[in-house]
Amino acid sequence: MLAGGAEAQDWRTLRERMLAEIDATYAETRAETGLAAMSPRVRAAMAKVERHRFVGPAERPLAYRNHPLPIGHGQTISQPYIVALSTDLVAPEPHHVVLEVGTGSGYQAAVLAEIVKRVYTIELLEPLARQAAARLAELGYGNVEVRVGDGYAGWPEKAPFDAIVVTAAAPAIPQALVEQLKPGGRMVIPVGGAGDIQRLVLLAKAADGTVTRRNVLPVRFVPLVPGK
Ligand code: SAH
Repeated sequence: MLAGGAEAQDWRTLRERMLAEIDATYAETRAETGLAAMSPRVRAAMAKVERHRFVGPAERPLAYRNHPLPIGHGQTISQPYIVALSTDLVAPEPHHVVLEVGTGSGYQAAVLAEIVKRVYTIELLEPLARQAAARLAELGYGNVEVRVGDGYAGWPEKAPFDAIVVTAAAPAIPQALVEQLKPGGRMVIPVGGAGDIQRLVLLAKAADGTVTRRNVLPVRFVPLVPGK
């Protein structure tokens, strides 16, 4: 298995390079995000999850560039920096139960699953949900559950969540998601309509239920499509 071993080593080298690019982007955006560097937890997850397994063969050579990539059905796997930042912003802890909206390739779910106890993730498009679920199972992520559905409604049966990560842009923050966040919880969500400048918003729910929000960064995500 010399060739296989060598290949794994090559991917690891590319992943290290990706981490360096993410580090550089954290440094550039420090004033806006308030985060100087990836937390050790998020860095370890980003170093471990094999992004090349979450894209098709044509995109594989580009898997460790700090860019979004197409995943079919008009959707994209987010830029690695944005995945790291979104994960850091919700301050994940090992005992957390997290909701992701917009499963896509399953990559963000895998990064979260490396850190937290359990991840529930919702995808509107059935073929993407099915593919992500199969991929995550094959990679051994037994702590991720994928469901086909409309993320605007959240996943009330599994609520409340310690954190919510939304990976598609909504014109406004869906109230159902705010309600499904635990007191003390955090949600990260790109907010803005089609054609608008979107903002990555960090919402925090205090122990008394009071909600505060902060605009973190201008971003560009695919839209959170209203479900039927
Ligand atoms: N987190 C993904 C990136 C997903 S792109 C990853 O790591 O690869 C956003 C995803 O949100 C797309 O797959 C899109 O189909 C999905 N989506 C759009 N509207 C949705 C909705 N209302 N509910 C759930 N998923 C939705």
